[in-house]
Amino acid sequence: MCGIVGIFGIPVASKYAYFGLYSLQHRGQESVGIAVFDGKCIREYKNLGLVSEVFDEKKLQELPGEIAIGHVRYSTTGSSTYQNVQPFCVKYAKKTIALAHNGNLVNAYNLRCELEEEGHIFQTTLDSEVIVHLIVKYLREGLVAAITKTMKRIRGAYSVLLLCDDVLVAFRDPWGFRPLAFGVLNGGYALASETCAFDLLGVEYLRDVAPGEVLVIDENGPKSYFPFERDPQPLSHCIFEFIYFARPDSLIYQKNVYTVRKNLGFNLYRECPLRADFVMPFPDSGTYAALGYSQASGIPLEFGVIRNHYIGRTFIQPSEKLRDLSVRMKLNPVREFIREKEVIVIDDSLVRGTTSKNRIRSIKLAGAKKIHFLISCPPLRYPCFFGIDFPQAKELIAAKHSVEEIRKFLDIDTLYYLSLEGLLDSVGDLRDKVCLACFTGNYPMEVDFSFRKDITEL
Ligand code: AMP
Repeated sequence: MCGIVGIFGIPVASKYAYFGLYSLQHRGQESVGIAVFDGKCIREYKNLGLVSEVFDEKKLQELPGEIAIGHVRYSTTGSSTYQNVQPFCVKYAKKTIALAHNGNLVNAYNLRCELEEEGHIFQTTLDSEVIVHLIVKYLREGLVAAITKTMKRIRGAYSVLLLCDDVLVAFRDPWGFRPLAFGVLNGGYALASETCAFDLLGVEYLRDVAPGEVLVIDENGPKSYFPFERDPQPLSHCIFEFIYFARPDSLIYQKNVYTVRKNLGFNLYRECPLRADFVMPFPDSGTYAALGYSQASGIPLEFGVIRNHYIGRTFIQPSEKLRDLSVRMKLNPVREFIREKEVIVIDDSLVRGTTSKNRIRSIKLAGAKKIHFLISCPPLRYPCFFGIDFPQAKELIAAKHSVEEIRKFLDIDTLYYLSLEGLLDSVGDLRDKVCLACFTGNYPMEVDFSFRKDITEL
């Protein structure tokens, strides 16, 4: 998963991109980069690390210009190395081109093999690099035609920002997997994965870049192209953006994430009405569903575990004796509160089950009398090929085990997953426009189950 931001026609665009990326940091913490057109060519700076670690005032000043794109990365194809940091920049036929991509292509490997046979030389192991090679291959026909042709060859999830010298282009796959918002600011324009970036920048949200749209912004302003026939395939907005990924203060697919997460909690109560001393989330991911459950049930919401927000990377491996260290570093139970209590614990999802097992163990050690664990989405049984980092099915606990087996493994009194209907009800009118493949195995397009995120590195 990744976050992208684009700025057009705003002095010191790099600073706006920086603050935009700052708001999108939750979408990727491995690396960050900003590319700016300085009037002659595109310059960039990028590195591994967080936005605040990689950039400072001086580095931003060294990126002058009014047009910029930026990217924060959480790798889903290609490892986390310097060469794979985006934006991906190239020089071609006296043009400078930079690309920032959120999503995952399902046919990148085949396209890459085909392009390599034609003599293309790849610099990274990113699926995103294929997009640049194809655009460059068709560029003789003009930028819009090249992008249009490329979109017809790539399949999968892509919300892309492309700088080609002084032209900024945003384009989005026709399934609309990943979000991409468009807004105006002081006569200029901005694009971002989520509207929380706009709030910080003072950008007025206009609309989303539509699924299948190519939005070109140049000195004449924005212009849209629609290379696909309207509604050629059902929309497939990623529902996991609502469940876990996006920030609750964002609008994605024109819907507020906070509201949807609270609905998940309301529906959890409707389906699984329990009584207990209090409801508590595993913060932050379970917070808003827990709030919904508490409001629907009238059971008080308490914070039975406290999150440390300042965790960076740790280089010290906890010893056997300190095996709870990594769990406690992030979430520490409030013993005085939990001791002798019956608690309803809410989290957004269970992936491998290992983190939850440790977290549950720590509240048990704090003296909880009874633990009911509720998950605000159905069992995750199938891998995601569109940009959420879900492992192969064999690593997903619900792919191999029944709910009862998982309950026993977690050693708790109740385990309940929200139903698919409860999930769909929570997104209201988007119910027919979402991708549910990780729950149902019904993928909106053909996928290759042998895919691995290091496929281009083997
Ligand atoms: P686990 O118990 O190991 O399955 O971890 C569950 C926790 O991981 C939950 O709090 C989730 O919010 C969080 N999580 C959500 N999505 C992912 C993901 N793609 N990969 C890993 N952990 C995730």
